[in-house]
Amino acid sequence: MSQLDENVSRLGYVEPLEQESISHYLGRLRRLKANSLPSAYALGQAADLGGVTARWEKLYFNPFPTEEELGAVARLIRLDPSCFQEMLPHPGMTLQPRPIRLCGTCYAEVPCHRIVWQDKDVIAVCPHHEVRLLERCPSCKTPFQIPALWTDGRCHHCGMRFTSMAKYQERIKKPS
Ligand SMILES: [Zn+2]
Ligand SMILES: [Zn+2]
Repeated sequence: MSQLDENVSRLGYVEPLEQESISHYLGRLRRLKANSLPSAYALGQAADLGGVTARWEKLYFNPFPTEEELGAVARLIRLDPSCFQEMLPHPGMTLQPRPIRLCGTCYAEVPCHRIVWQDKDVIAVCPHHEVRLLERCPSCKTPFQIPALWTDGRCHHCGMRFTSMAKYQERIKKPS
C-alpha cells in the first residue's frame, strides 16, 4: 500500500455479501469494531457527505446516489465502487422502501437483507424460494427495522430468529 492510499483509507474493510442491500451493508460497516461509527450521520461525516448515507440506510434513494457520493464512501474503505451498484435498485426496478421485507430462507443462506425484496414488482414473493416475503415478525407482528439496524438476525422486539421465520412464509404455487 502506498503512503497516499494509507491516508485515504480511514475505515476498516467489510466484504459485501451476495445481493446485500446498501442499508444492511452500511450498518455492518459502521458496527465493525475498528470503525465503531455510532450513527449513520457519523459515517456521512467521515465521507464528507452530511446526512446522505443516513438516507441510504433508510432505503430512500430520491435523489439517487451519485457516483461521486458512492465513490467518497468507497474510498474510505477501499471498496471497488462498482460493488455499490449491486447493493442499489437496478435500473428499471421500482423500489418500495416500506414495509421492510424478509425471506427467512434467504437469510439462512446468506444473512443479509436483499435489495430485491423491496422490488415493488415482485409482489412480495421471494424470487428464489416461491414463498411470500414477510413484512412483519410472525410472532409479535412488529414491522422489521431498517436493515442497517439488523445486528443479530432477530426481531428487535420479541427476539425471534429471522431463520425461524421461514416456516411461517406462505408457499406460492408456480403458475402452471
Ligand atoms: Zn428467499
Ligand atoms: Zn417479533
